[in-house]
Amino acid sequence: MAGEPQADCLFCKIVAGTVPATVVRETETTVAFRDINPQAPTHVLVIPKVHYPTAVALAEAEPAIAADILREAAQIAADEKIDDHGYRVVFNTGTGAGQTVFHVHAHVLGGRGLQWPPG
Ligand code: AMP
Ligand code: ZN
Repeated sequence: MAGEPQADCLFCKIVAGTVPATVVRETETTVAFRDINPQAPTHVLVIPKVHYPTAVALAEAEPAIAADILREAAQIAADEKIDDHGYRVVFNTGTGAGQTVFHVHAHVLGGRGLQWPPG
């Protein structure tokens, strides 16, 4: 069924607590944890507890949870005090864009200068 946990999904395992993560925030619908290979002083991943491969798939199936992810990203930026200077919320979508984990996740990046356009 859509949204059900996938046995072979790393981020479903983090949601279930069977793979450890440094969790910074949790809500009824989302979990946020520090990226294991941070690309900026603040690099937090926000994921839905339900499993969808991409941001678009989540938004089409459960738009309220897609909105929860964006609200959580903003809350993390405030908590980490990167909101004044500016921060980036990134959904890599597809292997060509660098997506390696096919459980939708927002990267929240900040705490350093962020170039535009990104690489
Ligand atoms: P993406 O390349 O957009 O799919 O992002 C996947 C992200 O997950 C990468 O930035 C990885 O560093 C991160 N990652 C992979 N395994 C873990 C883990 N066990 N805990 C936290 N972050 C992870
Ligand atoms: Zn998953």
